[in-house]
Amino acid sequence: MSRTPIIAANWKMNIGPKEAREFLANFKAEQLCDCKCVEKVIVPPFVTIPAVMDVLGDCTCLGVGAQDVSDRDNGAFTGEISTAMLCELGCKYVVLGHSERRQYHGETNAYINKKIKKALAAGLVPIYCIGETLEQREAGKLEEVLGSQVVEGLEGLTPEQVAGVVIAYEPVWAIGTGKTASAADAQSAHAYIRGVVASTFGAAAADAVRIQYGGSVKPANAEELMAQPDIDGALVGGAALKADSFAAIIRAAK
Ligand code: PEP
Repeated sequence: MSRTPIIAANWKMNIGPKEAREFLANFKAEQLCDCKCVEKVIVPPFVTIPAVMDVLGDCTCLGVGAQDVSDRDNGAFTGEISTAMLCELGCKYVVLGHSERRQYHGETNAYINKKIKKALAAGLVPIYCIGETLEQREAGKLEEVLGSQVVEGLEGLTPEQVAGVVIAYEPVWAIGTGKTASAADAQSAHAYIRGVVASTFGAAAADAVRIQYGGSVKPANAEELMAQPDIDGALVGGAALKADSFAAIIRAAK
């Protein structure tokens, strides 16, 4: 099966509403709107989302996602944002289980699983982040860590639901460090992840699920990574803060 590559810009806690308007003006100038063979997504901070929607208007060139969502529907959960609120704003995606949420907010596979189920119930596409720390890799635990993140994070989903999830493989040691996994190492991790999806949810789900690579992706290394058979796009942090380098990564995926 051919899978449409998906390139997503995770802005993290960067780019407020004013700066987002400038980014989008620069991105439009890159003339990538007609490029339908790559799914393009930006994931701004919550407060920036309305400005992004305002600038995009009817333009469907870029999908918009959020960086997290609550596992609850509504109520007394100070600081939380619900799936219904994201849908009301026009979001189509939500990043879940990013290593920074796991590290600084103690998010576990079981907790992220609840959020993935909420997102799917609301019609949002979860971008589910997994990946090992350097310590885990050096201790030979790569497959054990990735296996449990896939199985526990996606527990209880149907094969059809799994097919619609985007998995982002992001080795923690490669995020924001300038160190990228070699294309061969990334491909081997992606193939392993797809194998776990196949043995847990079946061949059709494994064939359909898109697996992005994330971790210091930039224009210079994007093409080699994207050329790997099991790499279906990228989740990009630092290099997606500027419209021209985000656009160059999209071109590499074309
Ligand atoms: C990320 O945070 O998802 C990420 C991949 O960041 P960077 O590209 O900066 O390593």
